[in-house]
Amino acid sequence: MDLLNTLVDKGLRRESPTREEALAVLATSDDELLDVVTAAGKVRRQWFGRRVKLNYLVNLKSGLCPEDCSYCSQRLGSEAGILKYTWLKPEEASQAAAAGLAGGAKRVCLVASGRGPTDRDVERVGRTIEAIKEQNEGVEVCACLGLLSDGQAERLKQAGADAYNHNLNTSEATYGGITTTHTYADRVDTVEKAHAAGLSACSGLIAGMGESDEDLVDVVFALRALDPDSVPVNFLIPFEGTPLAKEWNLTPQRCLRILAMVRFVCPDVEVRIAGGREVHLRTMQPLALHLANSIFLGDYLTSEGQAGQADLEMIADAGFEVEGAETTTLPAHRADVARGTGAADETAGTAGCGGHAEAGGGCGPCGGAATVCGTDAPEAEARAEAEEEDAAGVPGARPDLVAVRRRGAGTDLAPNA
Ligand code: SF4
Repeated sequence: MDLLNTLVDKGLRRESPTREEALAVLATSDDELLDVVTAAGKVRRQWFGRRVKLNYLVNLKSGLCPEDCSYCSQRLGSEAGILKYTWLKPEEASQAAAAGLAGGAKRVCLVASGRGPTDRDVERVGRTIEAIKEQNEGVEVCACLGLLSDGQAERLKQAGADAYNHNLNTSEATYGGITTTHTYADRVDTVEKAHAAGLSACSGLIAGMGESDEDLVDVVFALRALDPDSVPVNFLIPFEGTPLAKEWNLTPQRCLRILAMVRFVCPDVEVRIAGGREVHLRTMQPLALHLANSIFLGDYLTSEGQAGQADLEMIADAGFEVEGAETTTLPAHRADVARGTGAADETAGTAGCGGHAEAGGGCGPCGGAATVCGTDAPEAEARAEAEEEDAAGVPGARPDLVAVRRRGAGTDLAPNA
């Protein structure tokens, strides 16, 4: 296919596809899917080899958010039966992080629900970062705390944060239909604050919220313009008890096309398969490793992932290797920029995700929420059955694959890592 040859050539040069080319990737047929994966896989291997970076989520504060993001199980008015708890103590968070690191993760993502942190919250997270770094030399820590006020990104950087996550989530045109309590511009502003403070910016999207192909291409091009170092691609987990509970729009093939499109638009950036990996890619997860170079190990914020050991086996079986702490994730031209050595080359025509701009992060949906709360087994079972019945009329719905996180941070049970 001429399209794929063109996209591979551009990806190897860190050059942006056109909008039309990105749209054409999303429009490819199932017959062409393996060719699409092969092509985007060449770009992935050029910049990241066969390495897979493992990230580990620690939900510092769960539920009870005053914001109304429609996709989120922690939103205002959510009836999803998720765990709800206030801030973990630094030593509790450090203990949770240690489990992920022992499982092979090299980055810990500290996430808290809420519109944004108070200055006191930032201090608390600073102490948590300190506790984690004291115990684990070389660990990368990413904070994801929502919208940042002036000076907070700098304080997180001083406290030892390496990165900040705040997702754009969807296109500017559709953002108002997803959230009303803050704006797309607020999100862009936080990404820019993080970038300006010298934090590695992590910003991504959620697919499957009823958006068009144009919306998906818009948000991915907007991300490229913000130039984050990492782009998490979430696939909506339609939680019962949230407004998007009936949005079962994704197939494994669609997810692969979306990941391929993101890889072509952001060729040299850490593309991470985030929430919804198990629910929507299902048995196609190993193919997606040819496109993304990063996943979350184990559980998500409010939902359970497959067993951490299954993640590791999948990576090995697919012929990939877990990236070690001694390896720099980003290609040299990006890593040099992140370290401020100024050694970035400018060979890429329209550098985009390869040049340098601004980006940021916030309380991520990195996993959405799920089905049952788990303290009362009969009640949980009844709720799961009711949800399956609710989703029964929705073509493609797989509520059976959605499970509320009931272990790890905020519980007495061992984490999945
Ligand atoms: S995504 Fe963040 S800000 Fe939005 S409702 Fe969920 S926790 Fe709150």
